[in-house]
This record gives sequence, C-alpha cells and structure tokens, in this order.
Amino acid sequence: MSDVRNVIIIGSGPSGYTAALYTARASLKPLVFEGAVTAGGALMNTTEVENFPGFRDGIMGPDLMDNMRAQAERFGAELIPDDVVEVDLTGDIKLVTDSAGTVHRAKSVIVATGSGYRKLGLPNEDTFSGRGVSWCATCDGFFFKDQDIVVVGGGDTAMEEATFLSRFAKSVTIVHRRDTLRASKAMQERAFADPKISFIWDSEVSEIHGDGKLSGLTLRNVRTGATSKLPVTGLFIAIGHDPRTELFKGQLDLDEEGYLKVEAPSTRTNLAGVFAAGDVVDHTYRQAITAAGTGCSAALDAERYLAALS
Ligand code: FAD
Repeated sequence: MSDVRNVIIIGSGPSGYTAALYTARASLKPLVFEGAVTAGGALMNTTEVENFPGFRDGIMGPDLMDNMRAQAERFGAELIPDDVVEVDLTGDIKLVTDSAGTVHRAKSVIVATGSGYRKLGLPNEDTFSGRGVSWCATCDGFFFKDQDIVVVGGGDTAMEEATFLSRFAKSVTIVHRRDTLRASKAMQERAFADPKISFIWDSEVSEIHGDGKLSGLTLRNVRTGATSKLPVTGLFIAIGHDPRTELFKGQLDLDEEGYLKVEAPSTRTNLAGVFAAGDVVDHTYRQAITAAGTGCSAALDAERYLAALS
C-alpha cells in the first residue's frame, strides 16, 4: 500500500490536466492517472484547435495537450500513463487500483475521465478525424464554409449540429437509419424549415472516401441494400456519447444517460471528497475550455475539502 495522497486525479484531458495544475500549484502533490493509451484525452485525435483562448493562430490538439501536461508537471504533478481499473471511493480514504494491481490511497479524488463520441465503426473513420470527419460542429463547423456536409443521426444533437452547420455550409444532408427522427418536435421543425438542409432516410454511411482528406461517402439503403455515392467534404457524426463512468457505477450517482451527477455549480459528487469535472459530467457544452474550467473548479473544491479536514 502506498502513502495516503492528498488527491488522485483520474483522467488527462483538459479537465484532468487543469485540475492537476491547480492542485500542484496549491502544493497538494497530485497523482494523475493519464490512461494507458489515450493520455492527453480527446484532443490528441484532432488537428487544429482554433477556439481555445490564448492561441491567436490556433494550436494543434496534441501540442495543446503537451503544453497542459508540461505545465502541470512543472509544478510537481506526478503523472502516470496508466489506467485505473478499480476504485473504492466510499470511505474517508479513497482506494484507486492501477493496472498492475497496486492500490493507491488518497483523501480526495477528482474524476475527469471524459466521454467517448460514438463512432460509425468504419475502418478508416479515425484516419479522417480532423481531415473532414468530425464529431463536434461547434469545434469544427467554421472549417467547412461553403462546403457540402453530411450529418449522421436522428436525435436532438444531430438536428442541432445540422442547423448550426447550415450557417456555414453550402448544403447539409442528414443521413438517418430510420424513416422518422428521434429528435424533439421543435428541433425537427427547425431542421425541416431550413432550406439548406435535406434528408436521406433509411440509410447509413458504409464507406468513407478520400485521399488524405474526405472527398465522398458511399451510402447504403438499409431496406433495399442499394448503394450510392455522395460527394461531400464534411462528415459530422452525431449518434451520441458514452461517458466513461463504468468504474464508478454503484458508488457515484449517475443520471439516466450515464453521466456523473454533481451538485452544480460545484463539482461535488454524492460522496464526500470525490469531485468530477469535464465531459464525464457535461451533456451540454463538451468543449476543451469548459472541461478546463470545471477541472479548475474541481481542484478548488478539493483544496477546500482538504483544508476543512485539517
Ligand atoms: P477527455 O479529453 O476525453 O480526457 C479524458 C481522459 O481520461 C483521457 O485521457 C482518458 O484516457 C482518461 N481516462 C478515462 N478513463 C480512465 C481510467 N480508467 N484511468 C485513467 N485514465 C482514464 N473541443 C474544443 O473546445 N475545440 C475543438 O476544436 C475540439 N475539437 C475536437 C475534436 C475531436 C476529434 C474530438 C473528439 C473532440 C474535440 N473537442 C474540441 C472536444 C474536447 O476535446 C472535449 O470537450 C475535451 O477533451 C473534454 O475534456 P475532458 O478532460 O473532460 O475529457
């Protein structure tokens, strides 16, 4: 068993590294589990980030995350590129087990494990990430001015992404597997009324084409099996998110979609000494800057919790 730490942070996206920076500068010597293969979080899979304040000319996602990591490390955060595989957060001393089976102990824990965008499952989908394929219109819409775009999905998020993108795009085609939408009536009506938006029903994307950059899709009609080609330079996938909360089930309160519940605007969970930040909590904004913001809040909440213990 290791010594009891002040704080363990699980996750290394903008929320985890920001929490690490703040707790390190508060001399709490945080221990950060970064994840075994995905240290740096979601932005490691993208190219330009143009909306993180402070970078006038934008910055590449991996460079932004390297900077955040180095900044946290500079103030004494201890970073471990490993997964947490088990937790017991119920007691005063929290137990966090790494992949080698070592149990780490801490008085407080910040959960910053993020949320995965659901993928279509096509073999070259990841290769085109940041090269025409995106999961976030707010992040990337601006890059698609006057272009032809497909949005995949039939829920509120897909409608919201499509109506947002129609501000920039030449055309937006919503491709949906069924012949009706799941989205709320209001969102549907807004999409139907938008002259730039059209629909292809009962269809899915079966192939992504391009030479370095996306140039077109093959669509397959799920009823007839017929395929057709659609020349587009943007594909936005809006079929949902999976918050990474498996580890915490039965201990931390989750909402009906699996996100961690916090006592907003604080980052307190239902367990004393356990705080949560970033996309693992956030249904709504899902931006690097909002994740960094709540990471800061979690660090300050943890700091105050620890101060009250002593
Ligand atoms: P994440 O960045 O998802 O990080 C979570 C971390 O937790 C990961 O490192 C993961 O490995 C780790 N983790 C999970 N489980 C465990 C475990 N059991 N043990 C240890 N570690 C664990 N936002 C913008 O503001 N601007 C953009 O331009 C932009 N572009 C994007 C492009 C792409 C392709 C994607 C996917 C997202 C983009 N976003 C953008 C959204 C942004 O990346 C997220 O909102 C942000 O990264 C969320 O930060 P987070 O810290 O909550 O989680």
